[in-house]
Amino acid sequence: MKLFGSSGIRGIANKEVTPELALKVGQVLGKTKKKAVIGRDPRTAAPMIEHALIAGLSSAGCDVTRVGLVSTPTLACAAKTYECGVMVTASHNPSEHVGIKLWNPDGMAFDSAQQEEIEKAIEGEAFGRVSWAEMGKVFKDEKAIQTHMELIKTNVGPSSLRVVLDCGCGAGGTITPYLLRELGCEVITLNAQPDGHFPARNPEPNDANLSLLKKAVLDFEADLGLAQDGDADRLMAVDEKGSFVSGDELLAIFGRAECGESGGAVVVPVDTSMLVPDSLPKSEILRTKVGDVYVAEGIKKHGAVYGGEPSGSWIFPRLSYCPDGIYAAAKLAEIVQERKLSLLRAELPKYATRRGTLPCANEKKAKLMAEVGKRLKTLGEVLAIDGVRVETEEGWVLVRPSGTEAKIRITAEARVESSVEQLYASAEKIVKEALL
Ligand code: MG
Repeated sequence: MKLFGSSGIRGIANKEVTPELALKVGQVLGKTKKKAVIGRDPRTAAPMIEHALIAGLSSAGCDVTRVGLVSTPTLACAAKTYECGVMVTASHNPSEHVGIKLWNPDGMAFDSAQQEEIEKAIEGEAFGRVSWAEMGKVFKDEKAIQTHMELIKTNVGPSSLRVVLDCGCGAGGTITPYLLRELGCEVITLNAQPDGHFPARNPEPNDANLSLLKKAVLDFEADLGLAQDGDADRLMAVDEKGSFVSGDELLAIFGRAECGESGGAVVVPVDTSMLVPDSLPKSEILRTKVGDVYVAEGIKKHGAVYGGEPSGSWIFPRLSYCPDGIYAAAKLAEIVQERKLSLLRAELPKYATRRGTLPCANEKKAKLMAEVGKRLKTLGEVLAIDGVRVETEEGWVLVRPSGTEAKIRITAEARVESSVEQLYASAEKIVKEALL
C-alpha cells in the first residue's frame, strides 16, 4: 500500500485523506514516538485531520503538543525539541486537498524508509493502544512562531526595503509580515489573512498566479515583491520592475550569498539550469532527484552549505533541513538591500530553454525510459538519477516521466537558441521512436 508520495500523504479531503487514515497514522506513529508536536496550515479540512491524528497518537501513548495554525518551517523548527513533528498541510495543492507530512527533529522530512515503516504497520494493522493510565496527554504551545522568528533574526541582517508580500492566504501570513517589519522593512501585504478557500489566488507561487503582486510592486514603487505557497515553505520573488524572477535565478542568487568567495557544495535537482553552476564557479554542484526531500537528503549526506529547487524551495542547513520560505524572504530582503534585484539578475548568464511533454501511459513508462536511456547515450554523457539527463557540448537535455500525470517530460537548455531547438528535437525523436 503506497500512502506517501515524495511530499508526504496528500489527496482530496474526506475522500483520499480521511480522519480514519489520519487516526491510523497517529496510532502507528505513537507506538515509537513518545513526544510529538503538531501544526496545521489554513486548509478547511486541517482541523479534522489534526484531531484524528491527535486521537491516534494519544491512544498509542504519545504526548502531543499543539502549535496551531503555523507555516511548515515553523513546525519543523518546533520539532527540534520533540521526537517528531506532524504537519497537516497540502502545500500548494488546490483548496480541496489536505495532507500529512512528518518531520524529524533536525528538520528533515521522514525519508522513504521511515514512510515505508508506517505504511507496513498500517497495512498489518499493527496499531499501538495503551491502557487508560498510559494514554498520551495533549498540550498547547503558543510560542512556536516567536521561537522561529528569533531563530531567523539571529541569522539575517536588517533591511529597510519597501516590500510587497503576497502570502496567498496561506500560513505565511502568521509570521512573515511581522518578521520583515521587525527587520526594518516597510511591508505592504496582499492576502495575509489565512483562508483555506484560497480566495485570492492559486496557492502555488508561479509566474501565472502572481499578476496582482507584479502590479502591486509597480503601483507601490516597491523594491521587492515576495510570494509564498499555502504552507510557506516555498518563496518566489518579483523584482522592482515588476518582473517575475525564475526559480533558477533565485537558486543562483541565494547560492552566491550563501557560498560567498569560499565556495562549498551546493545541491540541486537534475532539472536545474546551467546558470546555477555557471554562477557558482567555486562551488561543487551535486545533483539529486527532483523533490525538495531529495535535495535535503543530499545536503545532509554531503555536508553541503546550501541547496534548493527551482520550484521555490530554498534550504539553508545552518538553520534546518526544512525549506524555509520565511527565512528565504528575510534573506532576500537582506541581499536586495545591497543591490537591486534586477541588477543581480542582469549579472547572471542567460540561456535558452525548451520544455515539452509527450503522452505516455503510466504502465509503459519504465520500459520506455529503459529504451530512451540506451538511445540517449548517442547524444552525450548520461546521468540517470531521475529520468535520463544528457550533457552535450552545447547544453543538456532531460527526459523524465511525470510523477503525477501520464506524460513524459522533455527539458532542453543550451547556450544559444538554435542549439536548444536541435537538442530538444533529437530527444523528442528518440522518445517518439521508443514509444512505437
Ligand atoms: Mg509548500
